[in-house]
Amino acid sequence: MKSLLTLISVFWCTLSWSQYTNVRQVPNPKSSNTINKYVANPDNIISRRDQNSINGKLTELEANYSFEVAIVALTSIGNNVIEDFAVDLFADWKIGNANTDNGLLVLFVQDQRLIRFETGDGTSTVLPDTKCYEIQQQYMIPYFRSTQYSEGILAGVQGIVDVLNGKTIDDTAMDSYGVENEEYYKEYDEQERIRKSKRNKNWLIGLSVWHAVGLILFLLVLIITRFKSDPYAKYNLVKWFSLWIWAILFPITHIFVILLAKKLKTRYRDMIRFSSENGEIMHKLTEQEEDKFLSKGQLTEELVRSIDYDVWVTEKSEDILILAYKKLFSGYTKCPSCKFKTYKKSYDRTIVSPTYSSSGRGERKYECANCGHSKITGYRIAKLVRSSNTSSSRSSWSSSSSGGYSGGSSWGGGSSSGGGATSGW
Ligand SMILES: [Zn+2]
Repeated sequence: MKSLLTLISVFWCTLSWSQYTNVRQVPNPKSSNTINKYVANPDNIISRRDQNSINGKLTELEANYSFEVAIVALTSIGNNVIEDFAVDLFADWKIGNANTDNGLLVLFVQDQRLIRFETGDGTSTVLPDTKCYEIQQQYMIPYFRSTQYSEGILAGVQGIVDVLNGKTIDDTAMDSYGVENEEYYKEYDEQERIRKSKRNKNWLIGLSVWHAVGLILFLLVLIITRFKSDPYAKYNLVKWFSLWIWAILFPITHIFVILLAKKLKTRYRDMIRFSSENGEIMHKLTEQEEDKFLSKGQLTEELVRSIDYDVWVTEKSEDILILAYKKLFSGYTKCPSCKFKTYKKSYDRTIVSPTYSSSGRGERKYECANCGHSKITGYRIAKLVRSSNTSSSRSSWSSSSSGGYSGGSSWGGGSSSGGGATSGW
């Protein structure tokens, strides 16, 4: 068994040797010991020379204008959607300054043939989505089309640095690729539309799989039920599928599952039984008839509706079978004194109200409907808190000042705005 597991894990590792399916797997350049603090290039897509060049440009950019740019080049992110992956990676690394959100993530994914720019709020004002797309189309895609990935990324970084330095993109260069502005936007919209429909499709597939899993689970239980001979055991298996919570978890299919489970529950509860002692047929007593077979505690449970009992007897009452059907969420718990399910909170009240300067006190009473056992417990009510209107919660984890190059061992603490652009080739 152990060797099989090892074999599977070795096989799995071989399969996924250069797949980064989770953002945590991407090596963070800030926490490595290399000089390259801006480039994650674990698959060596970018040449060493270009990597050094990019690093130099981005160091200078951050020193002069405080923009924090991360370049990530990966061969594969598995089946992840590049936009989602970029957002997650951005959030995980916290690129850009916490206060100004001047971060930018450039994510290159080779097997999906996609390049993604993810911008922070502060960056997107200087580098709006259309500008991102323009840089990708003008500087990067032409190189990527001829598999010059390293050159394309370097050219893109140059474009980004130029824009963030306040230079305008050279329009003649754009024309040389034979693409007009208007066409960029048209293509941008078209690509965006395709990506959206792809995402919707993924979502639909996920939903179908999820519902199928729920149905298979139910079918499995139905099959197991077939092999159980005791109707009480059958009942206790299917009862879990009659809960309305399934309708929330599996909104489409489970209305039918719940209705079927409810029907089966009734069937199993009334199913004919034979005595395990003498094999004689048994019959179920009515609510009135059964009372003399039940104890006082059981009668109280029936009264408060925490447990319903069925009593089955043989012809001459030689064998008596008492079956308990517990109601889920009845509000009653087991009494610590008489052990019947007849114990419940009877009240919960405030004795001393809390103020802004001191905490308050409350009292809670539990009482048993069967034996009368009761318990009063006291509890503390937390001090009142004035709600504050300051919205600086985001910066709490970081103390770096806005502007200025930190060059430290982590990114600045920014978050992405959801803005940016993606291009394919
Ligand atoms: Zn009690």
